[in-house]
Amino acid sequence: MYDVAEIRREFPILGREVNGKPLVYLDNAATSQKPRRVIDALTEHYEQHNANIKRGVHRLAEESTAAYEEAREKVARFIGAADATGLVFTRGTTESINLVAYAWGRKNLREGDEIVLTESEHHSNLVPWQIATQATGARLRFIPVRDDGTLDLNEAERLIGPKTKLVACIHASNVLATVNTVGRLAEMAHENGALMLVDGAQSAPHLPVDVQELGCDFFAASGHKMLGPTGVGFLWGQPEILEEMDPFLGGGEMIREVHLYHSTWNDIPHKFEAGTMNVAQAIGLGAAVDYLEDLGMESVREHEQRLGEYAYRRLSEVEDVTIYGPEDGRTGILSFNLPEVHPHDLSQLLDEEGIAIRSGHHCCQPLIRRLGVAATSRASFYLYNTEEEVDAFVAAVTRAREFFGAFA
Ligand code: PMP
Repeated sequence: MYDVAEIRREFPILGREVNGKPLVYLDNAATSQKPRRVIDALTEHYEQHNANIKRGVHRLAEESTAAYEEAREKVARFIGAADATGLVFTRGTTESINLVAYAWGRKNLREGDEIVLTESEHHSNLVPWQIATQATGARLRFIPVRDDGTLDLNEAERLIGPKTKLVACIHASNVLATVNTVGRLAEMAHENGALMLVDGAQSAPHLPVDVQELGCDFFAASGHKMLGPTGVGFLWGQPEILEEMDPFLGGGEMIREVHLYHSTWNDIPHKFEAGTMNVAQAIGLGAAVDYLEDLGMESVREHEQRLGEYAYRRLSEVEDVTIYGPEDGRTGILSFNLPEVHPHDLSQLLDEEGIAIRSGHHCCQPLIRRLGVAATSRASFYLYNTEEEVDAFVAAVTRAREFFGAFA
């Protein structure tokens, strides 16, 4: 039984007030709040076990190393990887994609090669590929987004061909709430001998993910959006592909032997973990994964889908509102606009009522341009949000509309 009231009690921050009103936190696509279990895991690490990992033979170093590697196992299991050898800890989705663009891209891209992206990519899955293609002479192609927020798969069939070396796509959109059929794109990529990278920043926290079922070669996500601490995320890659890649950053731990003029590399995944990693944060992410698994990702998805549909229906009742993205199969994200109300003004007005939403381009400038607007407002829900919060949000949006409408 999914008991949202009980879940909320485990998130200390949800008990606070903002501007004298109970906090209604609807900015989960930017970052999620943290349960007591994750906060306690960080505290316990620093109070009881803290030491640098791998290099020490003393007790604390061994305990810290074991906890860090256990977290790696947990995250690998959480995304359905066969084992943890392909699971690299990074700072987050952005760093994970940069790792691939740099370490795989520089070695494998040539003039005439193509990388296929979509029009709905977050800047994190666009800019690294601009840099990689500019450095190698390869070029970018883009799968268009249809007016309903879904990808044009016919166009994808046409674009993905013998020149394609990699297809990279968001699993779920941080603007449109679309869940993309990345498994189908992976098939198209593989039929043409290309690799498939999935940006899972907005899927891993919200949907059951199985990298083997998706058939992707790389999967990137951020810990802080899935109840974990900031500063940690991960890249999963097919081990045999990671083996063939050059290192990303050079330094300690990623080496086997160092000579004055050359070095050899450690085994994967350590080859990609140069220097002291965010040890406590990785352990905290392990605790977040435990928490999500205890709830069950199917239940999390069901709760968010129900809440998302309710919110979509309630917000649609506001006069003149435009809601972006598909009507069905959405995640718990609502991007919208009201005529006569600038998204920034709306966010500010809602903040006065203790309601946190986001406004702007959401790091998707090309997509926002494609929608024909300068910005949107965005409410994003997570496993601890309630129908009462949706009601408070819609009531505040309605009041804002009336307030600004009076000046129009
Ligand atoms: N991709 C998507 C789809 C996102 O929503 C985000 C975060 N807004 C990112 C990538 C980047 O994540 P991070 O800043 O944690 O690296």
